[in-house]
Parts: sequence; structure tokens; C-alpha cells
Amino acid sequence: MACRPERPASSHLLLSSSVSSSSPVRKCQRLSTFLSLTYDDCGDCSLICQFCGALFWYAKRVLTTSTVNQPYYSHCCKSDVVILPFPLTPPHVLTSLYDVPTFRENIRAYNSMFAMTSFGGQVDENINKGLGPYVFKVSGQVCHWLGSLCPQDNKRHRFLQLYIVDTQNEVSNRLSSFDHPSKSRLDDKIVTMLMNMLTVHNEYIRTFKTARDLAAEK
Ligand SMILES: [Zn+2]
Repeated sequence: MACRPERPASSHLLLSSSVSSSSPVRKCQRLSTFLSLTYDDCGDCSLICQFCGALFWYAKRVLTTSTVNQPYYSHCCKSDVVILPFPLTPPHVLTSLYDVPTFRENIRAYNSMFAMTSFGGQVDENINKGLGPYVFKVSGQVCHWLGSLCPQDNKRHRFLQLYIVDTQNEVSNRLSSFDHPSKSRLDDKIVTMLMNMLTVHNEYIRTFKTARDLAAEK
């Protein structure tokens, strides 16, 4: 395991010290009144937890148990107390689509198309009328719109209903019910591939399909 010794304080860069009162960069001077222009370089995130392999900066070591040549870390696995399984490997269909430019360009639209629910809540947009970063503010109860599992025939089917109603025409139903500016750029072959992949690998969708089959038998 590679270890990095303590960096001396002289490695810190002080960017504001060269600005004099007669400098034409007065805007920078005013800015420095509010912002610290000191740049601290704490090295690369290249040190490894000996238990789980997580990457760390040297400065994030546990001070009480670490030495210069043997740093210990606990923010990841609490020194081997917490053991998490590795993430599952994505299905090959999905990883192969990553090489398709049109899929990458519209990946958010494809993701939205297969959503099972829709967010419900009283969103307050007035808070974003002034300056500053975007703020997401809701009041009241937050919920997810699911829709009935037995939707009326004369109403447009959406979200979860598309998994269980008229699945013979699921691809065209999904495309026709999807109201999004990028809709014209979506490929029905990719929609079919994603639909088949989810049917095989997604436990919830398999359950819904089973419910649909049981309902159809009655
Ligand atoms: Zn760890």
C-alpha cells in the first residue's frame, strides 16, 4: 500500500497576497473580502483502505490510530465492520446500448418512459424567482401517482398501467403515451430491447406481469 507523508505548510498557495491597493484588479480585491483565495493541495485521492479498497486522501485518515506510513480509514467500512456486497453487473443488453450514441443522447427520456410512478406534491416555484441556485420546495404531503391496476379503457394508460394493460402493443402504447420533446428521436427497437430486458431482470415488473397473466386467465 502506497503511503504519503505529511505535506509541509509551505506547499499551500496564497493567491491573494500579490494584489496591492493600487492594482487595477479592484474587483478581485473586493471579492477577496468575502472569499478565501487560499488554495490547499491535499494530494491525490490515491490511498486505499486495507479492508474494503475504498480510495481516500491522506488527510482523511483516523488520526488516533494512523502513522505516517500506515494510515487507517473508517469512513468507508468502519475498519471491516460493515461489509457491503459488490454492485450487480448490469445486463449485457444495457451495457451494449451504452455504445449507441442515440441511446446515450436520449437516455433520460428512455428512463422516464419506463417509470412506474409519477411524483406528486405541491411544488412552490415562487422561491426560484429571485437570484441564487435552484431550490426544490414542496409543502403538504408528498406522494407517488400510481394509477389504478384496472384502468378504464377510454382513458390513456400511463406509468405502471403500461406494464399490465394491452401488453400486446406495449411498445406503441409507450411511445404514444410519452409526451416529451425528445419523443421523435426515440427508437422503437431500443424501446423493445429495454422492455424485454426489464421483463427478464426486474423483480417488480415480473410480479406485475404475473398479476396480468392471472387476471387474464379469469
Ligand atoms: Zn474500508
